[in-house]
Amino acid sequence: MTYDIYLDANATSPVLPAAIAAAADAMDGCYGNPSSGHATGLRAKVLLDGARERARRMIGAGTGRVIFNSGATEGIQTAVLSALCAVRERQAAGETVGDLLLYGATEHKAVPEALAHWNRLLGTGLTLRVLPVDGEGRHRLDVLRQLAPRAAMVCTMAANNETGTISDLAAIEKALLVGASKAYWMVDSVQALGKLPLALDATRIDYAPFSGHKLYAPKGIGMLYVRDGAPYTALMAGGGQEGGQRAGTENMAGIAALGAVLAALEAGDTFRTLAQLHAYRDRLVASLREALPGIVLNTPLQASLPTTINFSVEGLSGRDLLDVFDAAGLRVSAGSACSAAKAAPSYVLEAMGLADWRCASAVRLSFGPAADDAFIDAACERIAHCGRAMFTGGLVPPALRHEGQEDVVRLGHEGASTWLALDEASRSCVVIDPVAALGERIASMVRSRDYRVRGIIGTSSGSDQLSVRAALAALLGEQVDFTGTGDPFGWPAGSGSVRLGDETQTDGIALGGQVLARVSHDGDATRSYLMGASTGGALQAGDVRFAFTSAASGAQQMTALLNGDTIVCPSHDSANLICTTPTAATRLAPSLDAMELRPADLDRFLRERPDAILVDVRDPWEHEAGRPVIHGRTASNVPLSRLPSQLAQWLGVESRPLVFICRLGTRSQRAAQCLHRAGYAQAWHLGGGLALHFSDRKTDLSRP
Ligand code: PLP
Repeated sequence: MTYDIYLDANATSPVLPAAIAAAADAMDGCYGNPSSGHATGLRAKVLLDGARERARRMIGAGTGRVIFNSGATEGIQTAVLSALCAVRERQAAGETVGDLLLYGATEHKAVPEALAHWNRLLGTGLTLRVLPVDGEGRHRLDVLRQLAPRAAMVCTMAANNETGTISDLAAIEKALLVGASKAYWMVDSVQALGKLPLALDATRIDYAPFSGHKLYAPKGIGMLYVRDGAPYTALMAGGGQEGGQRAGTENMAGIAALGAVLAALEAGDTFRTLAQLHAYRDRLVASLREALPGIVLNTPLQASLPTTINFSVEGLSGRDLLDVFDAAGLRVSAGSACSAAKAAPSYVLEAMGLADWRCASAVRLSFGPAADDAFIDAACERIAHCGRAMFTGGLVPPALRHEGQEDVVRLGHEGASTWLALDEASRSCVVIDPVAALGERIASMVRSRDYRVRGIIGTSSGSDQLSVRAALAALLGEQVDFTGTGDPFGWPAGSGSVRLGDETQTDGIALGGQVLARVSHDGDATRSYLMGASTGGALQAGDVRFAFTSAASGAQQMTALLNGDTIVCPSHDSANLICTTPTAATRLAPSLDAMELRPADLDRFLRERPDAILVDVRDPWEHEAGRPVIHGRTASNVPLSRLPSQLAQWLGVESRPLVFICRLGTRSQRAAQCLHRAGYAQAWHLGGGLALHFSDRKTDLSRP
């Protein structure tokens, strides 16, 4: 493996051979200055005009202007300078111009820096305001609608360089039009060229900067689109080049190279179609999933550029991943190239509200639209090689083979559930509603992981419960780390105090950074327990991750204390579906048939849904004995005992199709039903289980 596989095209791309040839020609045979009046100069002028015409066609400039410059950073400066000069003139004329410079939270740093710089230099005195994005990185249109009337300028990129998220420009335009906003609108279109259709003249966009080196032209060449009628102030004054709009002798080699790239784009013979690019990305995603158990994509595929994949792997730092990839000659990056030198977490992912570990460990893999089959084959092979290397090299410990952290474990017996609320960091746990028959299993589980047991408690009182709890405490022996009080529910003595979402004060058991808080119902006839991270002595409704209740409907009595994604863990569930969410009762579950895939359907389903994840819900030892590989995809293992922990994570990220499998199809059906009831519609299961699936085909089970 000696050659590079370059997967960092959003940072910069290699230069197209035709562009190199065009640049060489511009420096050799066609070296004239396009401003010269003689024939040598005229030849250069023809080259310049030809490139500009091509650019106009490719971005749909219509009656607007296209000015060549050094790249997007310059284009952004020019756009901001132009808009703010016009704002200043309007301010001087006593016009109302708005007081905000509004920019998307995930813009390239050049945008807020340019806004702050020119606002200061020109003394326009406007306030910079971030336009937030949602969890997918899309601009919050509700906030835009609210602020648009106050905006003097709005900056929203076409597609994000770190995540590939494609902005909904039509909706942004509508929000500006509906609010009759007079704001100047800049759309940084750097990552869109060659990857998204552009028809700028048909939009309200005033300024659109582009950069050559993001699409196979050399660095140092770019262009700026300016809408017909939009104000313009030259950044550089001098010899009147570019019609007086950008002085300085033109970078003819760069312009010739960019012209060659645009010619290739126009001819349609060099770059792949959108459908081909999507297929390439799907293949790369599939090989990443195969190689990196625990991988999560940081942007939903359907909302992002087909050439960008941004992912994190739980338990692995971005640095470790980059090191492995780099050692294998696979060039990827952690977020944007501009911030690669800094070890800071990605501000783009932070703005999307992703968990800290995802922001800190994100890896971006991006390719250009000139990629071909051979390149993608080689990239997939190299990714697989990295996966093997990480495993054999010990970077991926076997424990990582379980996606997600362990914070709640369920043990079931004849329709009843015992719950273990765990905190891995502090190795402490609380046992909730122990079932007598499960005593030995609970004890061996707690002992093998060396957890301190901070409480053995129940959601209901009763003498039988009392004796079960006492028997379990005896079995646990030294692991017990609390003293009883004679409380009928087993609540330990000396617990702390915590304030709940409705401002009531209650008792709470500390579990590392989390707390397990007590809630009484019907004059203390039954109890529930809420688990989540407490801040300042309070457990806010939004932070409650799990609620342990006596019945699946238990959440209905305390909706003010929970949030929509709280996982409700009942000790008894009439539907026997393990866990649920507070809003589940209002949802219609699909029929069992609708969520079942018969063995004959499975291949087609996996082919059509390359982002589908196979989840083996058998116990870990069954899974290790023979990991199912179906349609080239290895199943990950989420035993039913860990479904609640995993469900919390699935509900928190984008919805990918999940296909549950088990031996006979019973456990997998419960898992699929559980997810549907919790509102996760993309869940299926393999009817008849692996037993049926493998009876009529050759696909085998690989040994670990
Ligand atoms: N905007 C975006 C979205 C980018 O990705 C980049 C490049 O990193 C820029 C602006 C700056 O472009 P240039 O390098 O041409 O100045």
